[in-house]
Amino acid sequence: MALLEIRLFGDPVLTQKSDPVTRFDAELARFGDDLLETLRYAHGAGLAAPQVGVLKRMFAFDIPPDEETGEHPFGVLVNPVITRWEGEQDGEEGCLSFPGLYYACKRAMEVTVDAVDVRGQPLQVEGDGLLARCMQHEIDHLDGVLFIERMSRGDRKRALKQWREREFDLEFEGIAPHLHRSDLTIKPDKTL
Ligand code: ZN
Repeated sequence: MALLEIRLFGDPVLTQKSDPVTRFDAELARFGDDLLETLRYAHGAGLAAPQVGVLKRMFAFDIPPDEETGEHPFGVLVNPVITRWEGEQDGEEGCLSFPGLYYACKRAMEVTVDAVDVRGQPLQVEGDGLLARCMQHEIDHLDGVLFIERMSRGDRKRALKQWREREFDLEFEGIAPHLHRSDLTIKPDKTL
């Protein structure tokens, strides 16, 4: 397995639309493993293929285990489509392509996602709370939509200003060293 370089806001790949996956081979399975490994290394809850520069409709997710139920949803979804939305949640959200920025975003409280796995086998994931937020955020990435577009106008201005002021500090060599800078706090339960 290999760690992949996480692209940061400003990289044009993040605003492009990804293509459906049509080839289900060993290379795709390996890429799925790398995506999940990179997500875990970066301490996020979700990571979409375009965030590592690959315009394929797929993402990895790894939601922190529920302390009461022990439930721990993680995996890789390919060609995901939201088929059901319900309710609303409003809470802090972050993105591995904007490390250290957290702003309120409105999302559906529950969603159902139809997808296939890396072998092309159909699967359905129903989620609420963070899992639902994560799947909506990652599927937005596949359409080139970033979370700043889901914020209020005021927050978007503040986020872009915060980002501009920060970017001169960011050094980006190889694999995401910015994620380990002491001045950045990555919240594992909010970074998608
Ligand atoms: Zn993101």
